[in-house]
Amino acid sequence: ERVDFIDFFQQVIDRFEMNVSDQIELQRDLPKEKLYVWLDKDKMAQVLDNIISNAIKYSPEGGAISFKVAKQKGNLLITVSDQGPGIPYDKVDKIFDRFYRADKARSRKLGGTGLGLAIAKEIVESHHGSIWAKSKEGKGTAILFTLPLINKKRRVN
Ligand code: ATP
Ligand code: MG
Repeated sequence: ERVDFIDFFQQVIDRFEMNVSDQIELQRDLPKEKLYVWLDKDKMAQVLDNIISNAIKYSPEGGAISFKVAKQKGNLLITVSDQGPGIPYDKVDKIFDRFYRADKARSRKLGGTGLGLAIAKEIVESHHGSIWAKSKEGKGTAILFTLPLINKKRRVN
């Protein structure tokens, strides 16, 4: 269905804001305008739930998580960044593989199956977007994904 992504994203973040500890700050950097995309809302909520849960799971006390949406040509670029431990350079692309968990010891302690991001990738791609990660060890992790914007004016030739 056609959805204003900004409104949808605000609602998802609001839900986390109510439940997350005061020690983690959620920062939003979102456009003021409505930006429409085609969404399976339940599936996209699953994508964001996993990305944001990971960010919270790996955030240090006093850490900030930032949410950003930008227009990029015909796409939306959505970025969720944290100030957690990061992911080693050679492992950052593997986190989208099924059952892959970057830091065995820490991951075991924090729980999970290693499926979240593999499912997120499937869902984003089924929306004709792509997803990737940028990370610096000791600095933090950013998960980025795109979604095609719906044209306001449909061109008929
Ligand atoms: P699940 O999501 O199934 O509960 P999970 O969170 O371990 O388990 P994914 O969400 O697929 O699995 O993430 C895969 C791995 O990528 C994680 O185990 C972790 O090693 C790494 N990872 C994901 N997000 C972050 C992050 N924000 N900071 C650091 N490492 C991350
Ligand atoms: Mg996860």
